[in-house]
Amino acid sequence: MSNPYRVISASITEVIQESPLIRTLKLLPEEPIVFKTGQFVELSIPNIGEGPFTPSSSHYISDRMDITIMKTGFVTDYVHRAQVGDTVGLRGPYGSHYPLEKFDGKDVLILGGGCGLAPLRSLFLTLLHDVDRYKSITFFAGAKSPQDCIYKDQVSGWRQFPTVRFVRSVDAVPEGQEWNEDVGLVTKLLANLDIDPKTNPAIVCGPPLMMKFGTLELLKNGFKESNIYLSMEKKMYCGFGQCRHCVMGPYYACKDGPVFTYESIKNEEGIWE
Ligand SMILES: Cc1cc2nc3c(=O)[nH]c(=O)nc-3n(C[C@H](O)[C@H](O)[C@H](O)COP(=O)(O)OP(=O)(O)OC[C@H]3O[C@@H](n4cnc5c(N)ncnc54)[C@H](O)[C@@H]3O)c2cc1C
Repeated sequence: MSNPYRVISASITEVIQESPLIRTLKLLPEEPIVFKTGQFVELSIPNIGEGPFTPSSSHYISDRMDITIMKTGFVTDYVHRAQVGDTVGLRGPYGSHYPLEKFDGKDVLILGGGCGLAPLRSLFLTLLHDVDRYKSITFFAGAKSPQDCIYKDQVSGWRQFPTVRFVRSVDAVPEGQEWNEDVGLVTKLLANLDIDPKTNPAIVCGPPLMMKFGTLELLKNGFKESNIYLSMEKKMYCGFGQCRHCVMGPYYACKDGPVFTYESIKNEEGIWE
């Protein structure tokens, strides 16, 4: 990357309100942004600020980009006020990516919850592009309640692939919301797994507690530490190892991550915070 601070402007072509707190921006950058699935970009709102976000679209598409964003604070509040036709800035991509070559011929397991589904949708759509390269893809997706489920309009299309299993579970079904799929913490879906844990990869992203208990459950199932891939969404600013805000032991979450194997970071302090 020649100038890591270089900002490319992108116009918002569509806004999808996925759930009360999560929306997907469909963006048209003024020039293509080539990234590998798992990497992130810094998205800025002019005169307001910026934050790290992972594209939620396939890495085979570089002239457009989807970014799915949860409203959590100052910048994301402005993101949630943005409208079609507005412009945002994008810089990057930064960081590590999912090692797709290691997933060839495997039963790929994806486990995520909340807005952690954003990088996982990028991975999933990228895998679907070459779906025959993988023996199967199992995607366990969690949400707090039916109305918090995201990518609702795409689920039935994904379920058409014969080697894809897309299973959703919600923590609870409040009165007045309809649901006829699984109920319970998404990690419970791991209880009856029919995938050989010794040879297959598992990719995890979501709220810290979900990542922690999901990883522990995978280990209990017999998954290898080196086959569990975690996307670490640590607080970070510059995105490329200058500001040192995201140091994790010998690693920078921005530069060496955000994608790490559990094996590589298991002894670092505060990985589940
Ligand atoms: C590599 C990476 C990829 C990410 N991808 C996505 C994504 O695709 N979609 C998405 O919605 N969010 C993603 N995040 C989290 C996102 O960056 C933060 O939620 C956002 O920057 C918060 O900005 P804010 O100004 O609205 O929040 P603030 O007002 O700064 O803070 C509000 C709350 O958010 C927490 N927070 C702030 N920055 C971060 C951060 N970088 N990571 C985690 N928590 C944070 C604060 O501790 C505080 O609790 C990602 C984070 C990283 C590091």
